[in-house]
Amino acid sequence: MKQPESNREKSSGSASNDAGTPLAREIADLSKRRRIITNFPVPLPSSTRVFAVSNQKGGVGKTTTTVNVAAALAKNGARVLVIDLDPQGNASTALGVEHNSETPSIYDVLIDGFTVRDVIQPSPEFDTLFCAPSTIHLAGAEIELVSQERREHLLREAVQVLLDDEGEKFDYVFIDCPPSLGLLTINAFVAAREVLIPIQCEYYALEGLSQLLNSIQMIESHLNPGLRLSTILLTMFDGRTNLSNQVAEDVRAHFPDQVLHTVIPRTVRISEAPSFGQSVISYDPGSLGAVSYLEAAAEIAVWGRKSEQRAQSAGMGDTK
Ligand code: ADP
Ligand code: MG
Repeated sequence: MKQPESNREKSSGSASNDAGTPLAREIADLSKRRRIITNFPVPLPSSTRVFAVSNQKGGVGKTTTTVNVAAALAKNGARVLVIDLDPQGNASTALGVEHNSETPSIYDVLIDGFTVRDVIQPSPEFDTLFCAPSTIHLAGAEIELVSQERREHLLREAVQVLLDDEGEKFDYVFIDCPPSLGLLTINAFVAAREVLIPIQCEYYALEGLSQLLNSIQMIESHLNPGLRLSTILLTMFDGRTNLSNQVAEDVRAHFPDQVLHTVIPRTVRISEAPSFGQSVISYDPGSLGAVSYLEAAAEIAVWGRKSEQRAQSAGMGDTK
């Protein structure tokens, strides 16, 4: 199993080692990772990549992952839009955008025919980071959508207008889903091309995962043949516990092609950033949490570029 070096060192570290104490080595390791990721050339996709960030469990790191991966990509120059599809509005808060009950929001897009551009706000985090906020009205949308025509397709149609219009293009759209598999999440799966599942490295991590995978498969069969589970990110990893290691190992065994090598550790910096209306990327850019999310974002960008290149060579009849 691949683990970040810091965690490997932590579990095998010995204070008598020449390299110094485990803590000293961990700091040296973080400085090295920071240097590498700062200079890493993060590629841009040739067309917009639309992700639904989903897991029907609450508190597994969906919003934290959405906000920090989005911020990390924006920091590297990508134009990134976060669509907050959770009535709790945590992504809107973390990105520092207004989302009171009067604010035009993704609810107005789904229910009142607003365009996505009508409701987008720039995030003060980075010049190229934007958010379509959620407000409290979205809490009623699940029920209001039931009686709408084409109720599963409303977000896809709105996102398509955004992708086709004359405005400046986005490189990435991340849809932060609520913790359920209701109509809002279905709208996200129909609008997206890729699903990113954050999995918390804790005991019940895999419980309910098959239900989520079934839902993705159903959407793929009936509503959105272009959808694929492209990315799994292990979050809240604690390398000192056997449990975290065991969960990570199990998930990697089941999904060898989807799980990112980068693992997001549990850190205080990650959890306190949202209370300042910030991502950890801007709140504490050199911290372990920020470096880990920058690495995860770089991996997502590189995997995307590789799969574009594979698709291109397949299109040109290259069967390699
Ligand atoms: P979800 O969107 O899946 O409900 P959140 O992203 O809101 O989950 O995370 C749930 C809680 O865990 C939040 O308080 C968040 O700050 C905290 N959290 C998420 N990831 C980490 C992490 N890597 N380290 C520490 N706390 C984290
Ligand atoms: Mg959330």
